[in-house]
Order: sequence, then structure tokens, then C-alpha cells
Amino acid sequence: MSKVLLHVLGTAQDAGLPQPNCFCANCLQAMDDPAYARQAAALAIVLPEEKSWHLIDATPDIKTQMIALQRQFGLEGRRMESIFLTHAHLGHYPGLLFLGREAMNTRHIPIFTGERMKQFLETEAPWRQLIELGNIEVNALSDGHAQQLNDRVKVTPVDVPHRNEFSETFGFWIEGPHKKALYIPDIDKWEDWHIDIADACHEADMCLLDGTFFSKHDLAGIGRDFREIPHPLMSDTMTRLAALTDVCDIYFTHLNHGNPVIPKNSDARRELEARGFHIAEDRMTFEL
Ligand SMILES: [Zn+2]
Ligand SMILES: [Zn+2]
Ligand SMILES: [Zn+2]
Repeated sequence: MSKVLLHVLGTAQDAGLPQPNCFCANCLQAMDDPAYARQAAALAIVLPEEKSWHLIDATPDIKTQMIALQRQFGLEGRRMESIFLTHAHLGHYPGLLFLGREAMNTRHIPIFTGERMKQFLETEAPWRQLIELGNIEVNALSDGHAQQLNDRVKVTPVDVPHRNEFSETFGFWIEGPHKKALYIPDIDKWEDWHIDIADACHEADMCLLDGTFFSKHDLAGIGRDFREIPHPLMSDTMTRLAALTDVCDIYFTHLNHGNPVIPKNSDARRELEARGFHIAEDRMTFEL
């Protein structure tokens, strides 16, 4: 049977690592060492035997992400078959502009996203020009309704609570012939979700979850109060999921540039790994 691969294109919060105009220790190191840099969070579903691929989130880093993916998997000249979008924040959809006539000038690439996000793309410039010129075709998905990519892999959106100014926010279930992955790069709070994240981890073989901030302490370090941050803290997520690390491979992604788990030798990273959790890295690949 031909393979279904889940490839990690990026693992940073929306603005990437380094983040523009930031000279914190992590950003400085990423400026000097490209291997330390992280692209904005995104995934690709790669079907190597078919020489095809699908994109989950079109980030501001789409150009470098596509080049790296295509060269790694022998997909040179192959455009994505479709794009799934989580929501309308900086790190998750502006890469769509590269499908327009100033760049790839694609023909009718299917976009799958929520109804509000569809309306946003249809009505607001410059996004609506992509539709008017036939570069993309936007399809609305609803919570829980699977989109079959071929006979071996399907993608199912799940609504998650997030500060939804322009769109709803989706996470995605990605299910191949052997494994089922859950991708939630952005969520406000686990307790506001209509699904128990522990139940979801039981159902999933692997999860890639919102790891924007580590703890109250690192927020205090950047002058932010954790109560006004619309992300679960990794330390709380680990407490919540402590008993599940044997049944599900739990990875954190969407890391803020200042997150103390980014340096591999940090206390925070060592604590996380000792507790059985993982940090997603750019260019990791999993077979589903
Ligand atoms: Zn984000
Ligand atoms: Zn920084
Ligand atoms: Zn967001």
C-alpha cells in the first residue's frame, strides 16, 4: 500500500523565529544559525507514490516551506492539490497570495475552510481577487464533516474556541491507513472546547498541539499576564494530559519565539521530555 506522510513545515507561532524586530536570545540565535530558526506552523500531507501533496495552512513562509518540501520529496514543479486553512490570523493564511498572478498563478486550487473564513476570502481584498481570477476555489467545511483526499486519507475539521475576529477556527483530524493525527495549533483554552482534549488524545495516535507559551513565568518575563493570553499554557496542558503520554505521542507546536523549550538544553525542554512529551521540529515526518 502506498504511504501517507505527515510532514511538519513549520513549528513557530505566526510570525516565526526569528520574529521581526525582536532581539531576544532565541531570535538572535536564529538569526545567526538557520538550523535554529523555525517557520510559521504548518503541515503537509505528502503522498509520495502519487507525487502529490496537500497543505494545511498557508503561512507567510510558504515560499521557503514549498521549496524545502518539493526538494525533499522529489515534488519539484508539483503544486499542492488542495489547501486546508485553520483561521484568519497572520501565520495561517497570508501565503495564499503566492497563488496569485504575481507569483504561481495557480488554476482552481481547492481551499477547504470554515463558512466564515470562506465569506471573508470571498468579500475582502486582496483575497477575493484570487477567487475572481480563478487561482483558488473556496469550499466551506463544517465541524466534523470529513474531506476524503483519496481512498487512504481523510481530513476532518473540528471547531475550536479562539479569538475569532474574521473567521471561525478549525483544528484538523488527519487520518491515514494506519494512524490518526490531531492538529490544533491555536486554541484559547482547553476548558472552553466542546471536546475533552484527554478524550481526543485517547482517540489519536499522535497530536500536534498549541505550545505557544510554556508557563506563567515566561509570560511574566515578556511583561504579559497569563490571564490575558488566549492560549493554554504548556505546563497546564502537560498536567492535563500527564496520564496519556503512553497512548498518544503528544507534540507541541506553534511555539512563541520566546518559549523556553526552544533551546534543546534548557530546563524547560528537559522537564517536558522527562514527562514524556515532545517538541515538534521543522521538517519532521510521520507516517500515517
Ligand atoms: Zn497562530
Ligand atoms: Zn524573540
Ligand atoms: Zn490565531
